[in-house]
Amino acid sequence: MIPFNKPYLTGKEMHYMYQAVYSGKISGNGLFTQKCQAYFEKQSGFKKALLTTSCTDALEMSAMLAAIEPGDEVIVPSYTFVSTALAFVRQGAKIIFADSSPVNPNIDADKIEELISPRTRAIVPVHYAGIACDMDKIMALAAKYNLLVIEDAAQAIDSFYKSRPLGSIGHLAAFSFHETKNINSGEGGLLAINDEKLVGRAEIIWEKGTNRSDFSRGVVSKYEWVDTGSSFLPSEINAAYLFAQIEHLEDIQNRRKEIWEQYNKGLQGWASANGIGLPQIPDYATNNAHMFYVVCKDGAQRNRLVEHLKSGEIWAVSHYLSLHRSPYYKGSDRGAELVNSDHYTDCLLRLPLFYELSNEETARIISRICSFAG
Ligand SMILES: *Cc1c(COP(=O)(O)O)cnc(C)c1O
Repeated sequence: MIPFNKPYLTGKEMHYMYQAVYSGKISGNGLFTQKCQAYFEKQSGFKKALLTTSCTDALEMSAMLAAIEPGDEVIVPSYTFVSTALAFVRQGAKIIFADSSPVNPNIDADKIEELISPRTRAIVPVHYAGIACDMDKIMALAAKYNLLVIEDAAQAIDSFYKSRPLGSIGHLAAFSFHETKNINSGEGGLLAINDEKLVGRAEIIWEKGTNRSDFSRGVVSKYEWVDTGSSFLPSEINAAYLFAQIEHLEDIQNRRKEIWEQYNKGLQGWASANGIGLPQIPDYATNNAHMFYVVCKDGAQRNRLVEHLKSGEIWAVSHYLSLHRSPYYKGSDRGAELVNSDHYTDCLLRLPLFYELSNEETARIISRICSFAG
């Protein structure tokens, strides 16, 4: 069976983890954490980068930093992972779910303004499959209505919008290093802070509501409880693992892009003959090869394709279920019809894509798909 995903080991992980363990400093914010953060600040131009134990945690930090209060509204696409909404719901926010674009699963930027009310505080665009949302439109709305923009960049490492790194455009951004992402540390994440005014408070929230970061820099002589917060730092062992992955980012990306291109070339004819959609990348966006997916005509066709692949020993998987219809939130939802979100829920199928997937295996997947009668 060809699996859907296999986390890639560069070979340096254990070496750096060993170094971290024997350095005598294995709690958070040590040398490896600082090396990882410095890399992202330099590479992507974030004002400040803070490693977290997950992207979910980075989103929760964002909700705290945005000072979301009960009754505040936050605009989130319905076609996304639970955490994009949950982080704000925990602060008492009412989620206004937005529809996806007909072109790709990203939030439809032309449909956001009609969702803004006097209670709206933030917009959370999700760069699905690492492909940028239309950020100029979203940032213009944020400026017009004085809203915060928090990019859910969980899948968006090393991807760009009009040459600007994703995660560097909104006021805040959250990345994931979960084992299913392009680079990983098992579980892990990063909060990018682009608005200078939010940096100081972010460090406090990160360090359990204390000014410990200032204390470490020698700015204050003792550290005390000054704000809300939690324990959001990963240990140095996780950061050491991540650093090995960062060092191989270019190699990992090059290989993933090769596989992605092989799929894209190999499936064009089959897709157009069968009325099936392939990923659409707008001119303003780049492709970081996080994911290759197909969009079937309906749910029944997708299920038949899944079975066809399974009987060919290939594991392909669907993705999100529209959050506005979820058991947890549907009672609080405003009840709008989000047809594109529901369409991707029923029809989208992700193909295996991981560093060690060989050209031969990719060719076998393509030929199995092309033998699917529709
Ligand atoms: C993976 C993912 C998350 C959650 O990331 P964790 O690191 O597992 O918390 C959130 N949003 C999106 C869009 C994701 O793909």
